[in-house]
Amino acid sequence: MLMDWNRRRLHWHPRLFVLMLTLTLPALAQDRGFSNERSILHGTRDRTYDVQHMKLDIAFDHAKGLVMGTATTTLTSINDGLARVVLDAVDLSIESVSLAVNVEVEAASREGNRPLTYAVENGQLIIDLDKPYRSGEPITLNVVYHARPRLGLYFVRPDEAYPDKPWQIWSQGEMEENRHWFPCYDSPNDQLTTELIVTVPDSQMAISNGELLEIRRNENEGTATYHWRENIPHVTYLVSVVVGRFVEVRDEWDGVPVLYYVEPRDSNKVERSFARTPDMIDFYSEMIGVRYPYEKYAQTTITDFMWGGMENISATTLKRETLHDERASLDVSSDGLVAHELAHQWWGDLLTTKNWNHIWLNEAFATYFDALYVEHDKGPQEFILELENNRRAYFAEDANRYRRPIVTNRYENPEEMFDRHTYQKGSLVLHMLRNLLGDELWWKAIRHYARTHAGQTVETNDFKQAIEDATGRSLEWFFDQWVYHGGHPEYEVSWEWYRRRQAVALEVKQVQGVDDVTPLFRMPIKIAITGDFGTETFAIQVDKAEETFYLPVEAKPLRVEFDPDDQVLKELTFNKHKKELLNQLANAGDVGRMRAAGWLRVYADRKVIEALGTALRQDPFRGVRAGAARALGEVKTKAARDALLPGLHDEHARVRRAVITALGNYVGDSQVVAALENVFHSDSSYFARAEAVKSIARLSALNAYDICMEALEVASYQEVIRCAALSGLVVLKDPRGVDHALKLADYGQPFQVRIEAVSALAGLGRHIPKRKKEIRERLVALLEDPHFRVRTAVISALGRLGDPKTLKALEASLEREPHFRHRKAAREVIRKIRIKGEK
Ligand SMILES: [Zn+2]
Repeated sequence: MLMDWNRRRLHWHPRLFVLMLTLTLPALAQDRGFSNERSILHGTRDRTYDVQHMKLDIAFDHAKGLVMGTATTTLTSINDGLARVVLDAVDLSIESVSLAVNVEVEAASREGNRPLTYAVENGQLIIDLDKPYRSGEPITLNVVYHARPRLGLYFVRPDEAYPDKPWQIWSQGEMEENRHWFPCYDSPNDQLTTELIVTVPDSQMAISNGELLEIRRNENEGTATYHWRENIPHVTYLVSVVVGRFVEVRDEWDGVPVLYYVEPRDSNKVERSFARTPDMIDFYSEMIGVRYPYEKYAQTTITDFMWGGMENISATTLKRETLHDERASLDVSSDGLVAHELAHQWWGDLLTTKNWNHIWLNEAFATYFDALYVEHDKGPQEFILELENNRRAYFAEDANRYRRPIVTNRYENPEEMFDRHTYQKGSLVLHMLRNLLGDELWWKAIRHYARTHAGQTVETNDFKQAIEDATGRSLEWFFDQWVYHGGHPEYEVSWEWYRRRQAVALEVKQVQGVDDVTPLFRMPIKIAITGDFGTETFAIQVDKAEETFYLPVEAKPLRVEFDPDDQVLKELTFNKHKKELLNQLANAGDVGRMRAAGWLRVYADRKVIEALGTALRQDPFRGVRAGAARALGEVKTKAARDALLPGLHDEHARVRRAVITALGNYVGDSQVVAALENVFHSDSSYFARAEAVKSIARLSALNAYDICMEALEVASYQEVIRCAALSGLVVLKDPRGVDHALKLADYGQPFQVRIEAVSALAGLGRHIPKRKKEIRERLVALLEDPHFRVRTAVISALGRLGDPKTLKALEASLEREPHFRHRKAAREVIRKIRIKGEK
């Protein structure tokens, strides 16, 4: 855990004690382990001008990684007396800057461009205007430039090791990286319309934002010029371009073109990933109450993307890996990614966070609206599982890394805000809001918020105010605890039947540690009490550290459920008898049965095993079946094993995977090994087969090494089976694994395999001291790998290796590494290794 590192740091630099204390205390008061001494206060950037429009006319030298062109920016002064314009321009070589005379107004006295003096300093282009400008007076600047961007614009090309890699150029502007390939005002508190004129080789196309005005074929040069224009104002980070050879598949939603662009080799996968897009546009347009606003909606899959997807305005970019074959669709779907990026076209693009402190207004909304589409499309059970995944992701970050308020202003780099607090916790906060208001008022508030702020930049208070205006409900207390504070309630609950009072006495405690970050929570909570009398529900308000509620029912109940639909984000310890849990597993709602299966894992008797086995075989909800499998996995008796084995034939691959993982606990059981071997050879799911390989390794089966060797030869979606083989070799601690991992980490192997091989090297290096030096040297060399994701894996592998001899190389990588994410990860690893060295 890294939570406590400030104190550790003080420990090894005692002389810095006083200084560090004053620097870090204010931050510690606002979060726990999130901000540090590098953090600075962030807010909305000051502006002196308002950009109206930008026309970017560019071409590339693909082999050299160069972009060159002219950016024509029209802006107006906000106040009287603007004499200087500062644009963001990192690593751009500026050739000239001039003032364009307004040709339309002054057509008669057209003078052309007037050169201006300028300076380039600290990533900014500082332009002295010809005179002070009045408020509202328009200014059009032409900047001629070229650049070899290290961020923001990426050049993909084949080489000897990857001859099939396509020629592609693509941009990634969020957070503030478009300034690396064109001069601009690169903060999200200004909106403009944009126009991209992009010249590419005739065999390629250029995809950008808005409507396609023209494709001009320049026959003498063998090039084509694509002219795109986005007419709806937006912030700079949403400007994008993708260049390459693509197949265009045209679809349509209510007259709006819906376009899918994939590499020619992927054209048979388009429908599987994208066919639901028009239905999603329909759903969001209807529910948000604002029709899809842009000229078209394009989705382009690209090679070597570092994110899953990016909601560039009207032209989303997606990682190529989202495309998959029929067999992979047993386990994976593109729907979540497609829905997330599409939801951003409203939440993020039409309404944009004014600064990064409020990024949950983009990301939590996209995450929750993805889940809402699941609810609409696949029904309540799949929706429960979406939320459950979000809960687990947030809890893991909260427990293992840090706790912070969803909205905070102390961080080093905006990228740090793109975490599980923003996405997953934020989505669960929206879910609570919906439950608090009820569906009717929730949607009324959402529509009011969307309509009121469409085309604007927003902060959290705008959302809170919109709810208040639409519904009359002031939610100051809700935002204060869930958005401006951190953590979540941890309830400890128990109940007793009071025959004389004819009531259930429900004792509720909030046991989370309360401090500056984490409050005592106030939440309304639903209680469901079931007995021979049926089910009675009660609404209680929990706001104290400890309170007993008396809930009248006519007879002793069979079970009591606290928040039966999991509306509140919480950790819950509910002391229940086995009998009650068995009743809950058999009879409660979807959430109640799923929870009961989890809680029953502490019992190992015949009755419980039977009940879990029945749930695994018969429950209609796959969440319950998988939960029962996990519980049986912990029992580890012969009876539990026999209850698990039929689950290998579950119709849902995800349940089978839970069963396979659970069976991996049955070390030394030859019957289990045989069953898993059969899964590896014959299951239809790539992921189930991969899981079987891992479990066989965990079982220390005699043939485990041979199975891993066999699995290393099996091709699968995203190489999941070969990756499982590598992780199996780590479990086996087999020295022969080192040679395989060294080979598979080679440049030229699929990147997924390389990442797993890198991680395997770290895992094996710790167990096989004789090879440690060799492994260390290899990992250090890979710190300079061209592949972004491989470098990410290498930094984390070096952290696991924990060898002080790698410090120098890690420090050198800080100087070289353009991506903040890598620098931060490398700094954390360096710190961890040093701390270890101090001990
Ligand atoms: Zn997003």
